[in-house]
Amino acid sequence: MKIYNTLSGKKEEFEPIEPGKVKIYVCGPTVYNLIHIGNARPMVVFDTVRRYFIYKGYDVTYVSNFTDIDDKIIKRAIEEGIPADEVAVKYIKECEKDMEGLGIGNDMLHPLATQVIPEMIEMIQTLIDKGYAYESGGTVYYRVRKFKFYGKLSKKNIDDLEAGHRDIKVAGEEHKEDPLDFVLWKPKKEGEPAWDSPWSQGRPGWHIECSVMAKKYLGDEIDIHAGGEDLIFPHHENEIAQSEAANGTAFAKYWMHNGFLRIVNKEGEFEKMSKSLGNFLTVRDISEQYSLEVLRFFMLGAHYRNPINFSDDLMEAAKNGLERIKTCGLNLSEMIEKAHDKGETGAGKELLDEAAKYTAAFEEAMDDDFNTADAVAAVFDYVKFINTNVTEELSSDVLRDLYDRLKSLTEVLGLELSSGGEELLDDEIEALIKERNEARAEKNFARADEIRDMLLEKGIVLEDKRDGVRWKRR
Ligand code: AMP
Ligand code: ZN
Repeated sequence: MKIYNTLSGKKEEFEPIEPGKVKIYVCGPTVYNLIHIGNARPMVVFDTVRRYFIYKGYDVTYVSNFTDIDDKIIKRAIEEGIPADEVAVKYIKECEKDMEGLGIGNDMLHPLATQVIPEMIEMIQTLIDKGYAYESGGTVYYRVRKFKFYGKLSKKNIDDLEAGHRDIKVAGEEHKEDPLDFVLWKPKKEGEPAWDSPWSQGRPGWHIECSVMAKKYLGDEIDIHAGGEDLIFPHHENEIAQSEAANGTAFAKYWMHNGFLRIVNKEGEFEKMSKSLGNFLTVRDISEQYSLEVLRFFMLGAHYRNPINFSDDLMEAAKNGLERIKTCGLNLSEMIEKAHDKGETGAGKELLDEAAKYTAAFEEAMDDDFNTADAVAAVFDYVKFINTNVTEELSSDVLRDLYDRLKSLTEVLGLELSSGGEELLDDEIEALIKERNEARAEKNFARADEIRDMLLEKGIVLEDKRDGVRWKRR
């Protein structure tokens, strides 16, 4: 199994630190807004990596944080007139809803930065004690030049970085020994949330939280550290500097980075989707039009290291492709119900032998740095094979075997094969809409939203019109 390691710039054979176990840390979102579909890409991609390790029989521990204290959260809190922690709690809940829709597994740990303040203070103190950090005016900085390997991940030369920094004087950072140094702890400004520390009442810098959470939940050395490619510098470079200096060991063995999700701009060029450019679509926006499984499937159609360009056409193609796979699963399960129970026939045996080739192709693609684009192609080939070869003559054992194979592959991709019978009837939908209207009349908006979300999950979209509520199946 090969993984492209940003650290070495090469595909390497995967060898876990501890046989049979994989420890993965993925940088999660800052929770001050609904996540956009670019933020969803690392979630989907690395959840698929996690699923494939499980499929291969590994015991996986997967940690992905929520950054719940940060300038943007504080700004948002001021705008909304609520405390910063309320902003964070609100958007964590929203993010969790999106993750559920995207099929992100729930057997992961999602620690919060504010839950590890004592551990962050401890690591910062260790860095000070070892001479890798210093306090000045209540702020603690990391002494970048002291860490000999700074730049090893991003392949940046420290002197070039210094030259780039020389003219930039950032307000409030005049106490730095060196413009390259970065913040580990900073004093609070008036009205900001703050914690006691040996240096000032204040809060941690962004980079330290990931070093600390990885250590706390996974240990000093981890197998895989991942995130979007914009995090390579400075975030991941700084994490390495902090963790390796504090722990005295190598930090992550493999560094994986996903490419950007891009969207077309007015000039007709594709550019990175980001909050700051204002060119984003939230996962919630998409869920009004599509099942989020379609979004997931769209993302898996590209190799994770390549950019992926969002478009309505590609989403439609993903929707149709997904439907083809699901219909195949549904047909097979219906045939299993009706099939006879006699043992395998000769023809069935041959079919099963041939079916195994598609699993081999799927695994070959995934073993090659998680090439989901080729893995999806293998699933399509398998679906075509089933559609052309399956007949009602086959025994239920053979049919079940074919079905289970499809299911095991789609499970790695995080897609569900429905067994049918889950659709809501029109009457049931009408009854739920009535209940929602009543809830709204009683100002029970939580219940009203709950019903709307539940219907959305089942593919029913509500439209509030002046003359009442209309619904349609997605
Ligand atoms: P942020 O909340 O901006 O720190 O982003 C959370 C995660 O989403 C990080 O791993 C980012 O690298 C990733 N990310 C942000 N924008 C994009 C994008 N347009 N395409 C792919 N990944 C992204
Ligand atoms: Zn991080």
